[in-house]
Amino acid sequence: MPIPLQSLNTLGLAAWTDELVRVTGSTQLPAISQAITNKDRFILGGGSNLVLQSSQDAPLALVCVQSSLKGIVRLPAREGLSRLRCASGENWHDFVMWTLAHGLGGLENLALIPGTVGAAPIQNIGAYGVEVGERIEAVHAWDFERHDHVVFPTESCQFGYRHSLFKEINFQGPWNRPRFFITAVDFALAPATKTQPILSYKGITERLAELGVTQPPLPMQVAHAVISLRKEKLPDPNEVGNVGSFFKNPVVSEEFAKALASQNPGLPVFHQNNQTKLSAGWLIESAGMKGVQRGEAAVSADHALVLTNLGAATARDVLGLAHEIQEAVMARFGLWLEPEPQIIPPI
Ligand SMILES: Cc1cc2nc3c(=O)[nH]c(=O)nc-3n(C[C@H](O)[C@H](O)[C@H](O)COP(=O)(O)OP(=O)(O)OC[C@H]3O[C@@H](n4cnc5c(N)ncnc54)[C@H](O)[C@@H]3O)c2cc1C
Repeated sequence: MPIPLQSLNTLGLAAWTDELVRVTGSTQLPAISQAITNKDRFILGGGSNLVLQSSQDAPLALVCVQSSLKGIVRLPAREGLSRLRCASGENWHDFVMWTLAHGLGGLENLALIPGTVGAAPIQNIGAYGVEVGERIEAVHAWDFERHDHVVFPTESCQFGYRHSLFKEINFQGPWNRPRFFITAVDFALAPATKTQPILSYKGITERLAELGVTQPPLPMQVAHAVISLRKEKLPDPNEVGNVGSFFKNPVVSEEFAKALASQNPGLPVFHQNNQTKLSAGWLIESAGMKGVQRGEAAVSADHALVLTNLGAATARDVLGLAHEIQEAVMARFGLWLEPEPQIIPPI
């Protein structure tokens, strides 16, 4: 019997798989690894960055492996930083709030991002001027090729904008043979009172003032500002199916950005980690696609970067609309937007 995945992806697309295996203890991994060694597989987290294409008649012909590994463990402190190991099946936002409640700072700008701790290093989740890789000390994974545990210190994780070694390797071979299953992530976090707040991103300082916070804010106060901004800007996936930003902000050369900005007054250009990025949301809105609806899929009327499922959208509706956006932006600005979620199976 095909297993339904509709409640396991935040876009709420009807999708099915042949088999679903939940890993509840890392001692199970050697046996699971041997059992699926010759089978196609896919690693499923909280389904908040996926577009799943399959039907009940033609389910994904693979084993979905999902982490239900739980627990947060304190490691010996080093150089004034508290160190934590968090299991991959923990909910990301709950973990962020746990760190803040325990007087630790560093993850506050990443509050309210959906998904699991295990998926956070995959695309190096980022928001409000912080990327998770900046707080990660090591990533623990199971290697489906060598059938063994492996640890990656942060220097070898190749964290970049929406990028990591895990994404590179897991996506570079056949899409249905990902190699590394993340089991836990180690973080190094400063005490809240010694955390330098990162407030450079548009809107945080203003929201803190509206909330009556006096400067400098504590990490928990920054988290509350971020949560309030996110609730205002992004649809709640429990109410309207979505995967957050559907496209990455294009990384371009400084010259290209300057030339485009001179032809398009108001074009937002960001400089972060030695990269120049353009606002994909602005490009989509300026290409006239904000609020456009195709079938049961729509571009949010509030946030042009978010595609929503109005209720009964199919993967075809969503991907058709995404393609139309890519063409509209290409025609207007000469740039091809790259989707952020993983499309399964790829098109
Ligand atoms: C409303 C909304 C807002 C969002 N905002 C942001 C944002 O601000 N910044 C941002 O970066 N992202 C954002 N996202 C995207 C998404 O939340 C993140 O990418 C998140 O990390 C995905 O986690 P997940 O557990 O749902 O992973 P899934 O969507 O299930 O999987 C994503 C990828 O990770 C892989 N994966 C999952 N778990 C593991 C594991 N244990 N080991 C190996 N591979 C694994 C999957 O195979 C897949 O390739 C948003 C999404 C939504 C719906």
